[in-house]
Amino acid sequence: MQDCFIGLGSNLGDKRKNLLKALQKIKQLKGIKIIKTSKIIQSMPLGGPKQPEFLNAVIKIRTRLSPSSLIRKLKKIETELGRKKTVRWGPRIIDLDILLYADRIIETKELTVPHPRIFERDFVIKPLLEVL
Ligand code: AMP
Repeated sequence: MQDCFIGLGSNLGDKRKNLLKALQKIKQLKGIKIIKTSKIIQSMPLGGPKQPEFLNAVIKIRTRLSPSSLIRKLKKIETELGRKKTVRWGPRIIDLDILLYADRIIETKELTVPHPRIFERDFVIKPLLEVL
């Protein structure tokens, strides 16, 4: 079992509901246990087109899934919640990122862990510190 941190963000539709739905779906995944959930915070969008503010949260999970299996399951949840492919940095119903996976450093086509933008972003660092 590995400890892992997942970032959640939403800036379209009922944002709080989107985050809660994603949490519910993560909770139902086999091989994952949610250990801690941060408060939900509001943040200004960084980069991309003009778009609504985000709600963000971070969870700590314990998992026996590999990083690639985990990201596939998270992407499936994004699709199930109705996320469409849009422009990079554009608005989204839900965004699920693997911030940290144990002490692993991963550089593959589908994954960069630690997430490259963790340390540029208050809205990731603040909730992350809450659940570390
Ligand atoms: P985004 O627009 O932030 O949802 O980016 C999605 C893409 O980033 C996906 O195709 C992922 O495969 C890729 N990606 C790379 N590293 C990560 C990571 N640590 N967590 C989530 N997605 C990642």
